[in-house]
Amino acid sequence: MATPEAPPTIMGTEADEAINNTDTTELSTMVTPKAEPVSPASETSASPLPSLHDHDYDGEESDEHFTSAPLNITHFDGAYWNFKPFWEHFQSIHNNRTLSPSDKMYCLQAKCIGAAEQKLGKWKVTDEAYGEFVKLLHYTYGDNDLAVQKLYDSFDKLKPSSDYINHIRLTASQMDHFLKLLEYHGESIDNGMIRQSYMNRFPEWVKDAIPQKARGSIKTIQKAVRVQIGRLKRAATRKPPPQCLFCGKHKYTSDCRNVRSVEERLTLLHQRHRCLNCLGSNHFARDCKKEVICYHCKSNHNTALCRSIEGDYF
Ligand SMILES: [Zn+2]
Ligand SMILES: [Zn+2]
Ligand SMILES: [Zn+2]
Repeated sequence: MATPEAPPTIMGTEADEAINNTDTTELSTMVTPKAEPVSPASETSASPLPSLHDHDYDGEESDEHFTSAPLNITHFDGAYWNFKPFWEHFQSIHNNRTLSPSDKMYCLQAKCIGAAEQKLGKWKVTDEAYGEFVKLLHYTYGDNDLAVQKLYDSFDKLKPSSDYINHIRLTASQMDHFLKLLEYHGESIDNGMIRQSYMNRFPEWVKDAIPQKARGSIKTIQKAVRVQIGRLKRAATRKPPPQCLFCGKHKYTSDCRNVRSVEERLTLLHQRHRCLNCLGSNHFARDCKKEVICYHCKSNHNTALCRSIEGDYF
């Protein structure tokens, strides 16, 4: 058990204020038994999947966002599964009779980016080249089975989510995106295996909150997860009433007489991903910006973790 390394503190009521300004959502709502809401998802879960788009991760999740948003792939990045939706998008240009093949060639080349651009190479823009370029593009990326295979592979490689709400959101978004693409490529996604592996990507408590009656179809499972994420987000932004961080049975942490040993308090703080310096959530002691001074012994540790008065004052 580590003790706080450079443990500053704040005093008495101030400490409680700081303590109680932090969220204690894990104790306050039925949907968040162990959630520590709002952690920087980018740190815990950088996506290994280059072709998902940022807009899949942020903004408000509404049901529509996940069930009917079109696959608007305006540029082709070389991910096999993006070729079909991209080519569909490009149809308006490909079939446009007022454009010359050179115009189309110019436009198509500009839309092939990243890995696609590298693989196809830089072509001289001519009327003749357009047909050849389109042929090569389809030859290289147009295999539906291959796209499907790569989608399944990437779906399988997705790591299970941690307890953090942003990680849960990210995991749900990534899976929803893959499932949407699989459907787009003609796959039936509503089968027991996909339902299981979808649910298994979430922590137990998220899984447990998916009602039995929703588990019969992937769409209702996706929806149930969305509803939960919405609740978690609302819970995370709502300011909960102050509650003892150790036992949850009374208002101020500094008044706790139920959990008296410093060792036990540290264990609880560890389990709840709390900062051992200011007891806040969303960061750990090494990143804590707060200067704390113990009310009792004036050392740099949190008053609630003072060993000099342990069992005496506590
Ligand atoms: Zn208490
Ligand atoms: Zn802190
Ligand atoms: Zn002290």
